[in-house]
Amino acid sequence: MSKIIIKKENYFHNLELLSQKAGGKEKLMAVIKDNAYGHGLELMAQLASEFGITKAAVKTLDEALHVEQLFKEVLILADHPPTELYSPNISFAVHSFEFLKKFPKKSNIHLNIDTGMHRNGVQMSELEDVLTYIKENSLNLKGIFTHFRSADDFNGELFWQQENWKKAKDESLMILKELEMKRPFFHSCNSSALLRSKDGIEDDFARCGIATYGYTHIDKNIATYDLLPVMSLYANRLSTRVLKKGKKVGYGGVYMAREDKIISTYDIGYGDGFFRYDGLGDLSIANGQKIRGRVSMDSLCVEGDREEICLFDDVTKLSIYFNTITYEILTKLMPWIKREAV
Ligand SMILES: *Cc1c(COP(=O)(O)O)cnc(C)c1O
Repeated sequence: MSKIIIKKENYFHNLELLSQKAGGKEKLMAVIKDNAYGHGLELMAQLASEFGITKAAVKTLDEALHVEQLFKEVLILADHPPTELYSPNISFAVHSFEFLKKFPKKSNIHLNIDTGMHRNGVQMSELEDVLTYIKENSLNLKGIFTHFRSADDFNGELFWQQENWKKAKDESLMILKELEMKRPFFHSCNSSALLRSKDGIEDDFARCGIATYGYTHIDKNIATYDLLPVMSLYANRLSTRVLKKGKKVGYGGVYMAREDKIISTYDIGYGDGFFRYDGLGDLSIANGQKIRGRVSMDSLCVEGDREEICLFDDVTKLSIYFNTITYEILTKLMPWIKREAV
């Protein structure tokens, strides 16, 4: 059976690097949304907790309920207001004033402020009304945050948005004081913004996903970082044959052997979330052996006859080949593939 191997040592290496950057393990929120970027929600939650991480971010309430016992704070980034209350360590991100009004009293919330991405968040001009509403409706404001749109890019946009964030923070603190409300957590950085910050951030913590898994898309003109990929994908052989000179393999017969070739078929395909390669380029697995022909739904063909192959131990090459980002290659891997930490 195909399987995903998680290199614990590499994960801990990345967590160490990022928590040093942030200024301590308590200043790092591990983002384990979307099945921990395909790495396996519960497995990665356990490892993060074992390392000493106390805060995590997930996408949905369902994900939060699977890991809440491992963390002091679990932030739900993209789910809808619930109709009941959950345990005190589960909080919801609030994306607009209208969204806020749907929460039951006493809900734990982190308020998103729009500082320039214009994807989600309340406007600066609404802050006073929003915070007053939170107080009057006895909502539990645990955090105030924002998200940066250009933390990877080689230009000044990050600094412009960080300035806006600083203003938003100052303004919030002033209003909170007037309303005699408690100071919540403030957080803004994702992986890239944290990596680009000076050591020891001013915020209370950073929310890091991709860099914990060993990748960054920060422009190489800015800097490179010592991150180690955590996931490898393996597949097992279903069958082997000699593809005679002139014979073609797979759908459409797009690969033709120019000489007799040993070809094996392995138990992973695009139905498992491995991208569908059309067989027309020059794509190889981790050890350099070529994938031959089109990738099928449940299988693919590779030269040679090894029992087990490693499809990748680093998805950078694949993400470039498919003109996408490492995030997408990783998150697409289906949850039913067995995950195992070594
Ligand atoms: C996914 C997400 C993150 C993590 O981003 P990375 O680039 O993977 O570090 C942080 N904050 C929010 C709001 C997110 O949605």
